[in-house]
Amino acid sequence: MFSNFKRLKTGAVVALAFFSLPVAGQDLLARQAPLDKKMRAVDSVALQRLVGEEQLENPAFGLYPDWNNQYAHHYDVELPEEYKIDLRHFCMPTPSTRITSNYGYRASFGRQHKGLDIKVYIGDTIRAAFSGKVRIVNYERRGYGKYIVIRHPNGLETIYGHLSKHLVKENQIVHAGEPIGLGGNTGRSTGSHLHFETRFLGQAINPAEMFDFVAQDVTGDYYIFRSHKSKASSADKSSTTRPKPVARPRTKVHRVKAGESLSVIAAKRGTTVSKLCKLNGITRKTILRPGQILKYS
Ligand SMILES: [Zn+2]
Repeated sequence: MFSNFKRLKTGAVVALAFFSLPVAGQDLLARQAPLDKKMRAVDSVALQRLVGEEQLENPAFGLYPDWNNQYAHHYDVELPEEYKIDLRHFCMPTPSTRITSNYGYRASFGRQHKGLDIKVYIGDTIRAAFSGKVRIVNYERRGYGKYIVIRHPNGLETIYGHLSKHLVKENQIVHAGEPIGLGGNTGRSTGSHLHFETRFLGQAINPAEMFDFVAQDVTGDYYIFRSHKSKASSADKSSTTRPKPVARPRTKVHRVKAGESLSVIAAKRGTTVSKLCKLNGITRKTILRPGQILKYS
């Protein structure tokens, strides 16, 4: 035990010594090719992680009008006609393969069942289907019971209902496969099960179109969301019941590419560096990272 501790301490001292070498010493080390290569590899992995984590901080930024911890699925937005949802890097929320109720109209409810029910027992671990950020952790006595809503960078929001216990907090970043709650029988539920919903901008999509619980797999690498509204509007131009979309100013954003400076971005987007700084609360000296999102109007 003691010797382990000692070794650890020695390691820390070596690392410190390395980083506090004078500049000339660092140059010397950089010229040693194998070490230099190794450092580069570490650098690029760290950078990739950073870009990934940033997407988790603001998942599907630009797609959703806001971030709130209240409304499970109310979005006053114009749906895109088509949107490609990346289903890779998923994790099945539960290893259970028993579907107890499908998505669709339920006579006993007199309304749509907007999720998929999967048999789980009280206390079974429920996992995040994708990496993302927890938007809602709440309790609905007559509905979802204890439930969780997570927003993912691929544009989806997943909802997990009837839990017996929450294991995450609102605004917490989670990774695919991370335990988020325990299975239960809370809310409007008869018999313990997981009520699982997949939504895109508030629109429920049958989870079975993306997740195959029996095969414990996704149905493909991608799922194409198509808004039926856009189809209906092109087929029926005379419809008067459809409310007109409310015109409102939209924030335009630029995703920073490697090597781009503020002045390059300003030129590309027809604005000025000082306007960019003001809009984004940054200064001319701020170091931009690839993948970073900047508002430009
Ligand atoms: Zn259900």
